[in-house]
Amino acid sequence: MSLAPEQSSAPAATAAPLTDLRERLRNIDLRVREAAVAAGRPAGDVRLLLATKTIAPPVILEAITAGFALIGENRVQEVVGKADELTAANLPYECHFIGHLQRNKVNQVLPHVTCIQTVDSIDLAERLQAWLDSSARDLDVLVQVNVSGETSKSGLALAEVPVLLDAIAGLPRLRVTGYMTIGLNSPDVAAVRAGYRSLTAFRDDALARGIAGAEHATELSMGMSGDFPDAIAEGATMVRVGSAVFGSRPPIVPETGTSTG
Ligand SMILES: *Cc1c(COP(=O)(O)O)cnc(C)c1O
Repeated sequence: MSLAPEQSSAPAATAAPLTDLRERLRNIDLRVREAAVAAGRPAGDVRLLLATKTIAPPVILEAITAGFALIGENRVQEVVGKADELTAANLPYECHFIGHLQRNKVNQVLPHVTCIQTVDSIDLAERLQAWLDSSARDLDVLVQVNVSGETSKSGLALAEVPVLLDAIAGLPRLRVTGYMTIGLNSPDVAAVRAGYRSLTAFRDDALARGIAGAEHATELSMGMSGDFPDAIAEGATMVRVGSAVFGSRPPIVPETGTSTG
């Protein structure tokens, strides 16, 4: 796949009044479809997940009403805090957890989500399995991979992923449906794309070799507001877009309760 020249990134995020929300959603949806087609795939091949951290339920409900019913939250407090208001509207939607999950918060978050995109340790996987057992429920998960090697980022190095997959293969309530990564934060598009490409290659290889735990692992959750067309060009099946739809966010305050359980 060619590395250059690349399409421009997303427009700079600015405040988004509610009246503009539908237009922004339509615009991002169109760009996602165009990027899929440009990559030789069907227009509907890539799912758009709205990253709704810091966004209030009425705005999220507006997006869901507009037909964008897959949301992602990255703090347990927000998942729990918004759940009542979101479910009260009686509109079908799906919430994935996309932040770092502390093991002691598994029981709080699981009732409200259909997928944990950030599984990166055997210990966390075992905690999930234990809760799921007690609730007689199964769960889709993604394994979070750190393709950039930046120490600030969660996720396993690619070389560590097979061991986790093997462990999850022994946890019958968990089904690995793919991989998630947060790309390299850099203006060097070739380097960003190389990271995404490495995850696509890993997925393809794991499927081809039929390695344990990876039998259903087809999803690639990668790409955000600034680089989702690049991620789609490299094989993303799901992009996580926040600021390009909702406008820029206030700074993130650390989540209370620092125990790692
Ligand atoms: C916030 C967030 C996003 C979306 O980021 P934007 O740059 O606002 O599109 C994607 N993935 C994760 C894990 C996030 O926390």
